[in-house]
Amino acid sequence: MIPSQNLNFKNRFIDLGPEFYEEKQPDPVTDPYLVDYSPSAGQLIDLPKEGGENFLANFSGNQPMEGAQPLAMAYSGHQFGSYNATLGDGRGILLGEVLNKENISWDVHLKGAGPTRFARGFDGRATLQSSIREHLGSEALNGLGIPTTRSLAVIGIRELIYRQKPELAAILVRVADCHIRFGSFEFFHYTKQPKNVERLADFAIEHYHSDICNEPDRYRIFFRRILTLTAKLISKWQSVGFVHGVMNTDNMTITGTTFDYGPYGFMDGFNTRYTPNSSDTHGRYAYQQQSEIGLWNLNKLAETMTPLVGADELQEEIKQYQPVFNKFYREEMGRKLGLSILDSEFIELTQEMFQLLQSQQLDYSNFFRDLANYTSAIDCSNELRSWLDRYLKLCERESISHNERKKKMDAVNPKYILRNHLVQRALEKALKEADFSEVTRLRVLLENPFEDRPELFEKYNIDADFYSQDTPQEFLGRQTSCSA
Ligand code: AMP
Ligand code: MG
Repeated sequence: MIPSQNLNFKNRFIDLGPEFYEEKQPDPVTDPYLVDYSPSAGQLIDLPKEGGENFLANFSGNQPMEGAQPLAMAYSGHQFGSYNATLGDGRGILLGEVLNKENISWDVHLKGAGPTRFARGFDGRATLQSSIREHLGSEALNGLGIPTTRSLAVIGIRELIYRQKPELAAILVRVADCHIRFGSFEFFHYTKQPKNVERLADFAIEHYHSDICNEPDRYRIFFRRILTLTAKLISKWQSVGFVHGVMNTDNMTITGTTFDYGPYGFMDGFNTRYTPNSSDTHGRYAYQQQSEIGLWNLNKLAETMTPLVGADELQEEIKQYQPVFNKFYREEMGRKLGLSILDSEFIELTQEMFQLLQSQQLDYSNFFRDLANYTSAIDCSNELRSWLDRYLKLCERESISHNERKKKMDAVNPKYILRNHLVQRALEKALKEADFSEVTRLRVLLENPFEDRPELFEKYNIDADFYSQDTPQEFLGRQTSCSA
C-alpha cells in the first residue's frame, strides 16, 4: 500500500449526521496526471512544495487518505430566480477538513470525483476546460486579495466525457474555508426540517463565529455577518470588474467567499451590462446586477432563518444591505483612486468617471493603473482632460505626495488581470497540445498581479507587455457557456 499524505484531518461536518450528506468515496480514475499545482494553496494545508510524493494517487481519489471521511453534501437553491429542490454535490466530494499548523481548518474538496446520490443522471465529472478555468479564476482572485476558494491543483484523468462533444475530464482539488451555501439552509427549510436549519446555523456559528455562541440573539448576528461579508465581497468584485456569472444561491457561501467558478469573467472595456455567461441572455447576473442579486440571495437566506430570528428583525437587517454595500464600495473606489476624502465631490467625480469609462469604452483595469502616473492633465486626450483636472484637484486636498499616491494606487490596481483571451490561449494549448505551461505561467503571474517580478518573469518566460496590454479588439466581450 502506498503511504498517504500526512494531512491532519479533523472532520467536523460529518458529525451533523446523514441528513446532511451522503458518505461517498471518490471513484477511481485511470492514469491521473498533473496539469498544474498551486504551492501557495498547498501551504494552507501544510503540504510540501510539490504536493508530496503520492499527491496524484491521493488527490485523484485513487488512494484513500488516512483520516479522510469523504462525503457529498446536500443542498438546494435558487437558480436564475427559480427554486431547484434537487441539487447537492452531484460530482463534488468533501474529503474532509484539515487543521493546519496554525490551527486553521480547511475543507479539502474534489470537484469531478464521480457521480454521487445527487448526480441526477449526470456523469459526476468535470471537463478539463472548466477545471482549468476554475483553477486560474480562484488563484487570480486570491492574488487580488479577494476572498475566494483556492485551487490546489487540476488533475487530468484519461477519460472522455460528453458535453456538446467529447471532452477531456479532470478533477479540481479545491481548498476552502467553508462549503456551506445559502442553498444548504434552503434545502432544510423547503423540506420542512426546521430543526436541521437550526443545527446547521449552530454548526456554522460554532465553527465560523464562535465569539457569538452565547449571545441570546446569535442567529440575528450571524445573519448580519453573512450580509456584511456578502456586501463586502461583491464590492470587491465590482472594484476589479469581476463578474461571477452564476450567482445562484447554491453558489454563495455563508463566509462571503467567491465560490463555484463557472462562466466568470473580468470586464475589458467598462460596460455595466457585461456578462461573461452566454446562457444568461437576460443579463440577470451582469456586472451592474451583482450587488442587487446579492441582496436577492440574502432575502432567500433570510426566509430560511425566519423561525430563528423573526421576520421583522430580519427585515431590519436586510435594510442595512444597501448602505453597507455603498460604504464598502465607496472605500474600494477611494483606494483605487488614491483618495481618502470620500465626500460628495468624490462621489460626483466617480459618477463622471463611470460615464467617461462607458462612453469611451476604456479598459477598466488599465485606466486605474495608468491614472497613478498622471501628475498633470496635459498629456492626455481632450475628453479625459476636464475629468483629470478635477481628479487632480481632489488629489491636492490629500496631504500625500504624488509618489506616495502612486505607490498606494499600484498596490490595489492590478497591472495584470485574468483577461478572457489569456485564459483562452492557455486553454487552447492545454486542450490541443497537452501543454500546460501557459496555465502555470498565468497562475504564477497572477499570484501577485500588482508588481513585475523580473527573476520570476524570466524563469517562466513572461512578457510583461503582452500580458498587461488592453484586450485586443477581436477578443472583447467574449462569453463562455455554462456547460462544464
Ligand atoms: P454547478 O454548475 O457546478 O454549480 O452545478 C450545479 C449543480 O449541478 C450541482 O448540484 C452540481 O453538483 C450538479 N452538476 C453539475 N455538473 C454535474 C455532473 N457532470 N455530474 C453530476 N452533477 C453535476
Ligand atoms: Mg454550484
